[in-house]
Amino acid sequence: MIDDKKENAGADRKVHLLNMEFEDLEKWVQSIGQPKFRGKQIFTWLYKDRVTDIDAMTNLPQKFREQLKELATINTMREVTRQVSTDGTIKWLWELYDGSTIETVLMRHDYGNSVCVSSQVGCRMGCTFCASTLGGLVRNLSGGEVVEQLLNVQRFLDGEVDAERVSSVVLMGSGEPMENYDEVMKFVDTINDQNGLKIGARHITISTSGLVPAIKRLADEKRQITMAISLHATRDEIRSALMPINRRWGIAELLDSCRYYIAQTGRRISFEYALVGGQNDDLAHARELAGLLANIDCHVNLIPVNYVPERNYTRTPKDQIRAFVNELNRLGVNATVRREKGHDIAAACGQLRAEQGRI
Ligand code: SAH
Repeated sequence: MIDDKKENAGADRKVHLLNMEFEDLEKWVQSIGQPKFRGKQIFTWLYKDRVTDIDAMTNLPQKFREQLKELATINTMREVTRQVSTDGTIKWLWELYDGSTIETVLMRHDYGNSVCVSSQVGCRMGCTFCASTLGGLVRNLSGGEVVEQLLNVQRFLDGEVDAERVSSVVLMGSGEPMENYDEVMKFVDTINDQNGLKIGARHITISTSGLVPAIKRLADEKRQITMAISLHATRDEIRSALMPINRRWGIAELLDSCRYYIAQTGRRISFEYALVGGQNDDLAHARELAGLLANIDCHVNLIPVNYVPERNYTRTPKDQIRAFVNELNRLGVNATVRREKGHDIAAACGQLRAEQGRI
Protein backbone atom coordinates (compact mmCIF):
# COMPACT_ATOMS: atom_id res chain seq x y z
CA MET A 1 0.00 0.00 0.00
CA ILE A 2 2.18 2.75 -1.21
CA ASP A 3 1.17 6.21 -2.14
CA ASP A 4 4.26 7.21 -3.97
CA LYS A 5 3.91 6.31 -7.63
CA LYS A 6 7.66 6.40 -8.10
CA GLU A 7 8.08 3.42 -5.82
CA ASN A 8 6.62 0.96 -8.26
CA ALA A 9 8.28 2.52 -11.25
CA GLY A 10 10.76 0.01 -12.59
CA ALA A 11 9.00 -2.88 -10.86
CA ASP A 12 8.88 -4.62 -14.22
CA ARG A 13 12.65 -4.87 -14.51
CA LYS A 14 13.32 -5.77 -10.89
CA VAL A 15 12.91 -9.23 -9.39
CA HIS A 16 9.65 -9.47 -7.46
CA LEU A 17 10.49 -11.17 -4.18
CA LEU A 18 6.85 -12.20 -3.66
CA ASN A 19 7.07 -14.12 -6.89
CA MET A 20 9.42 -16.65 -5.34
CA GLU A 21 8.47 -19.63 -3.25
CA PHE A 22 10.62 -20.40 -0.21
CA GLU A 23 13.07 -22.66 -2.04
CA ASP A 24 13.23 -20.29 -5.02
CA LEU A 25 14.27 -17.52 -2.69
CA GLU A 26 16.97 -19.71 -1.14
CA LYS A 27 18.32 -20.50 -4.60
CA TRP A 28 18.10 -16.91 -5.75
CA VAL A 29 20.08 -15.48 -2.81
CA GLN A 30 22.76 -18.08 -3.50
CA SER A 31 22.83 -17.07 -7.16
CA ILE A 32 23.77 -13.55 -6.09
CA GLY A 33 26.53 -14.77 -3.80
CA GLN A 34 24.73 -14.94 -0.44
CA PRO A 35 24.44 -17.86 1.95
CA LYS A 36 21.27 -19.93 1.67
CA PHE A 37 19.93 -18.91 5.11
CA ARG A 38 19.39 -15.36 3.86
CA GLY A 39 16.49 -16.81 1.86
CA LYS A 40 14.74 -17.86 5.05
CA GLN A 41 15.50 -14.52 6.69
CA ILE A 42 13.90 -12.65 3.81
CA PHE A 43 10.91 -15.01 3.66
CA THR A 44 10.33 -14.43 7.39
CA TRP A 45 10.51 -10.65 6.99
CA LEU A 46 8.05 -10.84 4.13
CA TYR A 47 5.42 -13.18 5.54
CA LYS A 48 5.84 -13.17 9.33
CA ASP A 49 6.91 -9.59 9.98
CA ARG A 50 5.20 -8.38 6.84
CA VAL A 51 7.53 -5.43 6.37
CA THR A 52 6.68 -2.97 3.63
CA ASP A 53 10.21 -2.20 2.51
CA ILE A 54 13.57 -3.86 2.21
CA ASP A 55 15.24 -1.37 4.56
CA ALA A 56 13.20 -2.81 7.42
CA MET A 57 14.95 -6.20 7.06
CA THR A 58 17.38 -5.21 9.79
CA ASN A 59 19.19 -8.51 10.31
CA LEU A 60 20.52 -8.38 6.76
CA PRO A 61 23.89 -6.68 6.38
CA GLN A 62 23.53 -3.07 5.20
CA LYS A 63 25.51 -3.81 2.03
CA PHE A 64 23.27 -6.72 1.13
CA ARG A 65 20.17 -4.61 1.74
CA GLU A 66 21.52 -2.04 -0.72
CA GLN A 67 22.18 -4.80 -3.28
CA LEU A 68 18.70 -6.18 -2.68
CA LYS A 69 17.09 -2.80 -3.29
CA GLU A 70 18.98 -2.50 -6.57
CA LEU A 71 17.90 -5.91 -7.80
CA ALA A 72 14.53 -6.56 -6.25
CA THR A 73 11.24 -5.12 -5.08
CA ILE A 74 8.44 -6.13 -2.73
CA ASN A 75 5.92 -3.47 -3.79
CA THR A 76 4.64 -3.49 -7.33
CA MET A 77 1.12 -2.22 -6.84
CA ARG A 78 -0.38 1.03 -5.66
CA GLU A 79 -3.66 1.47 -3.84
CA VAL A 80 -5.95 3.57 -6.02
CA THR A 81 -9.15 3.34 -3.98
CA ARG A 82 -10.44 1.54 -0.92
CA GLN A 83 -14.20 1.29 -0.48
CA VAL A 84 -15.90 0.14 2.69
CA SER A 85 -19.34 -1.44 2.59
CA THR A 86 -22.00 -1.01 5.24
CA ASP A 87 -21.54 -4.73 6.03
CA GLY A 88 -17.80 -4.26 6.67
CA THR A 89 -16.62 -5.68 3.35
CA ILE A 90 -13.69 -3.74 1.90
CA LYS A 91 -12.77 -3.56 -1.76
CA TRP A 92 -9.41 -2.33 -3.02
CA LEU A 93 -8.58 -1.20 -6.49
CA TRP A 94 -4.87 -1.59 -7.23
CA GLU A 95 -2.82 -0.17 -10.03
CA LEU A 96 -0.15 -2.60 -11.20
CA TYR A 97 3.30 -1.66 -12.47
CA ASP A 98 2.10 -1.53 -16.07
CA GLY A 99 -0.90 0.67 -15.33
CA SER A 100 -3.44 -2.21 -15.36
CA THR A 101 -5.89 -2.31 -12.48
CA ILE A 102 -7.42 -5.16 -10.46
CA GLU A 103 -9.65 -5.53 -7.43
CA THR A 104 -9.36 -7.47 -4.16
CA VAL A 105 -12.09 -7.93 -1.55
CA LEU A 106 -11.94 -8.56 2.21
CA MET A 107 -15.06 -10.17 3.67
CA ARG A 108 -15.55 -10.37 7.41
CA HIS A 109 -17.53 -13.31 8.74
CA ASP A 110 -18.09 -14.46 12.31
CA TYR A 111 -15.84 -17.41 11.50
CA GLY A 112 -13.00 -15.28 10.18
CA ASN A 113 -11.63 -13.07 7.46
CA SER A 114 -11.89 -14.22 3.92
CA VAL A 115 -10.10 -12.58 1.02
CA CYS A 116 -11.13 -12.75 -2.61
CA VAL A 117 -8.18 -12.26 -4.97
CA SER A 118 -7.98 -11.71 -8.72
CA SER A 119 -5.89 -14.01 -10.90
CA GLN A 120 -6.00 -12.12 -14.20
CA VAL A 121 -6.47 -8.55 -15.40
CA GLY A 122 -9.88 -8.86 -17.04
CA CYS A 123 -11.07 -12.25 -18.28
CA ARG A 124 -11.71 -13.87 -21.62
CA MET A 125 -14.33 -16.40 -20.62
CA GLY A 126 -17.21 -14.21 -21.78
CA CYS A 127 -19.84 -15.32 -19.23
CA THR A 128 -22.83 -13.14 -20.04
CA PHE A 129 -23.72 -12.22 -16.46
CA CYS A 130 -20.26 -11.21 -15.25
CA ALA A 131 -18.62 -7.77 -15.24
CA SER A 132 -15.02 -9.05 -15.13
CA THR A 133 -15.11 -10.20 -18.73
CA LEU A 134 -16.61 -7.08 -20.32
CA GLY A 135 -13.26 -5.73 -21.51
CA GLY A 136 -11.77 -9.13 -22.37
CA LEU A 137 -8.49 -10.46 -21.02
CA VAL A 138 -5.62 -8.01 -20.60
CA ARG A 139 -3.03 -10.35 -19.09
CA ASN A 140 -2.29 -13.01 -16.53
CA LEU A 141 -1.14 -11.91 -13.10
CA SER A 142 2.14 -13.28 -11.84
CA GLY A 143 1.97 -15.45 -8.72
CA GLY A 144 3.70 -12.57 -6.92
CA GLU A 145 0.98 -10.14 -7.88
CA VAL A 146 -1.63 -12.48 -6.43
CA VAL A 147 0.46 -12.90 -3.26
CA GLU A 148 0.86 -9.13 -3.01
CA GLN A 149 -2.92 -8.61 -3.00
CA LEU A 150 -3.25 -10.96 -0.06
CA LEU A 151 -0.26 -9.59 1.81
CA ASN A 152 -1.57 -6.05 1.46
CA VAL A 153 -4.89 -7.10 3.00
CA GLN A 154 -3.09 -8.96 5.82
CA ARG A 155 -0.99 -5.86 6.48
CA PHE A 156 -4.20 -3.84 6.65
CA LEU A 157 -5.58 -6.28 9.25
CA ASP A 158 -2.28 -6.15 11.16
CA GLY A 159 -2.87 -2.43 11.58
CA GLU A 160 -6.20 -2.94 13.34
CA VAL A 161 -6.52 -3.17 17.11
CA ASP A 162 -7.28 -6.89 17.20
CA ALA A 163 -4.86 -7.67 14.31
CA GLU A 164 -6.69 -10.73 12.99
CA ARG A 165 -5.34 -13.12 10.39
CA VAL A 166 -6.71 -13.84 6.97
CA SER A 167 -8.29 -17.23 7.57
CA SER A 168 -9.42 -18.19 4.10
CA VAL A 169 -8.76 -17.23 0.53
CA VAL A 170 -10.96 -17.55 -2.51
CA LEU A 171 -9.76 -17.20 -6.08
CA MET A 172 -13.01 -15.64 -7.16
CA GLY A 173 -11.92 -12.18 -8.22
CA SER A 174 -11.46 -11.22 -11.84
CA GLY A 175 -10.02 -13.84 -14.13
CA GLU A 176 -10.15 -17.57 -14.71
CA PRO A 177 -7.58 -19.04 -12.30
CA MET A 178 -7.30 -22.31 -14.20
CA GLU A 179 -6.10 -20.43 -17.27
CA ASN A 180 -3.19 -19.12 -15.23
CA TYR A 181 -2.44 -22.45 -13.59
CA ASP A 182 1.28 -22.26 -12.80
CA GLU A 183 1.18 -18.77 -11.33
CA VAL A 184 -1.91 -19.58 -9.30
CA MET A 185 -0.21 -22.68 -7.85
CA LYS A 186 2.86 -20.61 -7.04
CA PHE A 187 0.51 -18.33 -5.09
CA VAL A 188 -1.09 -21.30 -3.33
CA ASP A 189 2.27 -22.80 -2.35
CA THR A 190 3.63 -19.48 -1.14
CA ILE A 191 0.73 -18.61 1.18
CA ASN A 192 0.57 -22.23 2.32
CA ASP A 193 4.23 -22.34 3.37
CA GLN A 194 4.94 -23.22 7.01
CA ASN A 195 7.62 -20.54 7.16
CA GLY A 196 5.14 -17.87 6.20
CA LEU A 197 1.41 -17.21 6.30
CA LYS A 198 0.51 -20.91 6.79
CA ILE A 199 -2.89 -20.70 5.14
CA GLY A 200 -4.01 -24.32 4.84
CA ALA A 201 -4.87 -25.71 1.41
CA ARG A 202 -8.34 -26.57 2.66
CA HIS A 203 -8.88 -22.89 3.35
CA ILE A 204 -8.05 -21.96 -0.22
CA THR A 205 -10.83 -22.19 -2.80
CA ILE A 206 -10.27 -22.08 -6.53
CA SER A 207 -13.33 -21.29 -8.58
CA THR A 208 -13.42 -22.25 -12.23
CA SER A 209 -15.83 -21.79 -15.08
CA GLY A 210 -14.98 -25.39 -16.01
CA LEU A 211 -11.61 -25.93 -17.71
CA VAL A 212 -11.78 -29.71 -17.71
CA PRO A 213 -8.08 -30.52 -18.41
CA ALA A 214 -6.99 -28.20 -15.61
CA ILE A 215 -9.47 -29.77 -13.18
CA LYS A 216 -7.98 -33.19 -13.99
CA ARG A 217 -4.46 -31.87 -13.61
CA LEU A 218 -5.30 -30.44 -10.20
CA ALA A 219 -6.91 -33.76 -9.26
CA ASP A 220 -3.72 -35.62 -10.21
CA GLU A 221 -1.63 -33.30 -8.08
CA LYS A 222 -3.78 -34.34 -5.11
CA ARG A 223 -3.68 -30.99 -3.40
CA GLN A 224 -6.19 -30.44 -0.64
CA ILE A 225 -7.53 -27.23 -2.17
CA THR A 226 -11.29 -26.68 -2.27
CA MET A 227 -12.63 -26.72 -5.82
CA ALA A 228 -15.63 -24.61 -6.74
CA ILE A 229 -17.26 -25.11 -10.10
CA SER A 230 -19.38 -22.40 -11.70
CA LEU A 231 -22.17 -24.60 -13.01
CA HIS A 232 -25.11 -22.19 -13.32
CA ALA A 233 -27.31 -24.39 -15.52
CA THR A 234 -28.56 -27.93 -15.89
CA ARG A 235 -28.92 -28.09 -19.67
CA ASP A 236 -26.22 -27.56 -22.27
CA GLU A 237 -28.31 -25.08 -24.31
CA ILE A 238 -28.78 -22.82 -21.31
CA ARG A 239 -25.23 -23.18 -20.02
CA SER A 240 -23.74 -22.51 -23.45
CA ALA A 241 -25.83 -19.35 -23.76
CA LEU A 242 -24.62 -18.11 -20.37
CA MET A 243 -21.07 -19.46 -20.48
CA PRO A 244 -19.34 -19.85 -23.86
CA ILE A 245 -16.83 -22.32 -22.36
CA ASN A 246 -19.64 -24.86 -22.23
CA ARG A 247 -19.37 -25.23 -26.01
CA ARG A 248 -15.87 -26.61 -25.48
CA TRP A 249 -16.59 -28.80 -22.45
CA GLY A 250 -20.24 -29.62 -21.88
CA ILE A 251 -21.97 -30.41 -18.61
CA ALA A 252 -21.49 -34.20 -18.80
CA GLU A 253 -17.76 -33.90 -19.38
CA LEU A 254 -17.44 -31.25 -16.68
CA LEU A 255 -19.23 -33.43 -14.12
CA ASP A 256 -17.06 -36.40 -15.08
CA SER A 257 -13.99 -34.33 -14.27
CA CYS A 258 -15.58 -33.44 -10.92
CA ARG A 259 -16.12 -37.11 -10.09
CA TYR A 260 -12.50 -37.71 -11.01
CA TYR A 261 -11.41 -34.85 -8.75
CA ILE A 262 -13.33 -36.31 -5.82
CA ALA A 263 -11.97 -39.81 -6.47
CA GLN A 264 -8.38 -38.56 -6.60
CA THR A 265 -8.46 -36.14 -3.70
CA GLY A 266 -11.23 -37.35 -1.41
CA ARG A 267 -12.46 -33.77 -1.26
CA ARG A 268 -16.03 -32.71 -1.82
CA ILE A 269 -16.71 -30.09 -4.47
CA SER A 270 -18.67 -26.85 -4.31
CA PHE A 271 -20.97 -25.94 -7.15
CA GLU A 272 -21.89 -22.32 -7.70
CA TYR A 273 -25.28 -21.79 -9.23
CA ALA A 274 -26.25 -18.19 -10.02
CA LEU A 275 -30.00 -17.90 -10.11
CA VAL A 276 -30.78 -15.84 -13.19
CA GLY A 277 -34.40 -14.67 -13.24
CA GLY A 278 -36.51 -16.66 -15.70
CA GLN A 279 -33.58 -18.60 -17.15
CA ASN A 280 -32.46 -21.32 -14.76
CA ASP A 281 -34.42 -20.73 -11.59
CA ASP A 282 -37.67 -22.68 -11.57
CA LEU A 283 -38.38 -25.91 -9.73
CA ALA A 284 -37.86 -28.02 -12.83
CA HIS A 285 -34.26 -26.78 -12.86
CA ALA A 286 -33.89 -27.59 -9.18
CA ARG A 287 -34.99 -31.16 -9.89
CA GLU A 288 -32.67 -31.47 -12.87
CA LEU A 289 -29.82 -30.16 -10.76
CA ALA A 290 -30.54 -32.72 -8.06
CA GLY A 291 -30.53 -35.41 -10.74
CA LEU A 292 -27.18 -34.30 -12.15
CA LEU A 293 -25.53 -34.14 -8.75
CA ALA A 294 -27.15 -37.23 -7.27
CA ASN A 295 -23.96 -39.28 -7.03
CA ILE A 296 -21.49 -36.45 -6.48
CA ASP A 297 -20.25 -35.54 -3.00
CA CYS A 298 -20.84 -31.82 -3.10
CA HIS A 299 -22.32 -28.65 -1.74
CA VAL A 300 -24.33 -26.21 -3.84
CA ASN A 301 -23.96 -22.47 -3.34
CA LEU A 302 -26.88 -20.59 -4.80
CA ILE A 303 -26.09 -16.99 -5.73
CA PRO A 304 -28.97 -14.71 -6.69
CA VAL A 305 -27.55 -13.00 -9.79
CA ASN A 306 -25.87 -9.71 -8.94
CA TYR A 307 -26.51 -6.48 -10.72
CA VAL A 308 -24.18 -5.59 -13.57
CA PRO A 309 -25.25 -2.36 -15.31
CA GLU A 310 -24.34 -3.59 -18.80
CA ARG A 311 -26.64 -6.61 -18.38
CA ASN A 312 -30.27 -6.58 -17.46
CA TYR A 313 -30.77 -9.87 -15.75
CA THR A 314 -33.43 -9.96 -13.09
CA ARG A 315 -33.12 -11.50 -9.66
CA THR A 316 -35.22 -14.44 -8.64
CA PRO A 317 -37.91 -13.48 -6.07
CA LYS A 318 -37.05 -14.47 -2.48
CA ASP A 319 -39.89 -17.00 -2.18
CA GLN A 320 -38.78 -18.72 -5.32
CA ILE A 321 -35.18 -18.89 -4.09
CA ARG A 322 -36.44 -20.50 -0.89
CA ALA A 323 -38.50 -22.98 -2.85
CA PHE A 324 -35.48 -23.79 -5.04
CA VAL A 325 -33.26 -24.51 -2.01
CA ASN A 326 -35.97 -26.52 -0.30
CA GLU A 327 -36.48 -28.63 -3.38
CA LEU A 328 -32.75 -29.38 -3.59
CA ASN A 329 -32.61 -30.23 0.10
CA ARG A 330 -35.69 -32.40 -0.17
CA LEU A 331 -33.99 -34.34 -2.97
CA GLY A 332 -30.93 -34.91 -0.81
CA VAL A 333 -28.68 -32.17 -2.17
CA ASN A 334 -26.72 -30.10 0.28
CA ALA A 335 -27.50 -26.51 -0.75
CA THR A 336 -27.42 -23.03 0.77
CA VAL A 337 -27.91 -19.50 -0.48
CA ARG A 338 -24.67 -17.56 -0.41
CA ARG A 339 -24.84 -14.58 1.89
CA GLU A 340 -23.91 -11.73 -0.34
CA LYS A 341 -21.39 -9.22 0.82
CA GLY A 342 -20.39 -5.80 -0.43
CA HIS A 343 -23.30 -5.21 -2.78
CA ASP A 344 -23.33 -1.46 -2.15
CA ILE A 345 -19.69 -1.15 -3.27
CA ALA A 346 -20.04 -3.53 -6.23
CA ALA A 347 -17.81 -6.08 -4.53
CA ALA A 348 -20.17 -9.06 -4.83
CA CYS A 349 -19.74 -12.05 -7.17
CA GLY A 350 -19.49 -11.03 -10.78
CA GLN A 351 -19.29 -7.32 -10.03
CA LEU A 352 -15.52 -7.02 -9.93
CA ARG A 353 -13.91 -5.32 -12.84
CA ALA A 354 -10.74 -3.57 -13.76
CA GLU A 355 -12.02 -0.04 -13.80
CA GLN A 356 -12.50 2.72 -11.33
CA GLY A 357 -15.80 4.31 -10.49
CA ARG A 358 -18.12 2.11 -12.51
CA ILE A 359 -20.50 0.88 -9.89
N1 SAH B 1 -13.61 -17.46 -13.49
C1 SAH B 1 -13.87 -18.16 -12.26
C2 SAH B 1 -13.68 -17.27 -11.08
C3 SAH B 1 -14.75 -16.22 -10.91
S1 SAH B 1 -15.50 -16.56 -9.41
C4 SAH B 1 -15.24 -18.80 -12.33
O1 SAH B 1 -15.94 -18.59 -13.30
O2 SAH B 1 -15.59 -19.59 -11.46
C5 SAH B 1 -16.87 -15.60 -9.41
C6 SAH B 1 -18.14 -16.37 -9.24
O3 SAH B 1 -19.21 -15.43 -9.38
C7 SAH B 1 -18.36 -17.41 -10.35
O4 SAH B 1 -19.08 -18.50 -9.87
C8 SAH B 1 -19.18 -16.61 -11.31
O5 SAH B 1 -19.85 -17.43 -12.22
C9 SAH B 1 -20.10 -15.87 -10.38
N2 SAH B 1 -20.71 -14.69 -10.99
C10 SAH B 1 -20.26 -13.98 -12.02
N3 SAH B 1 -21.12 -12.96 -12.29
C11 SAH B 1 -22.12 -13.05 -11.40
C12 SAH B 1 -23.27 -12.26 -11.15
N4 SAH B 1 -23.56 -11.20 -11.88
N5 SAH B 1 -24.06 -12.65 -10.15
C13 SAH B 1 -23.75 -13.72 -9.36
N6 SAH B 1 -22.67 -14.47 -9.55
C14 SAH B 1 -21.86 -14.16 -10.56
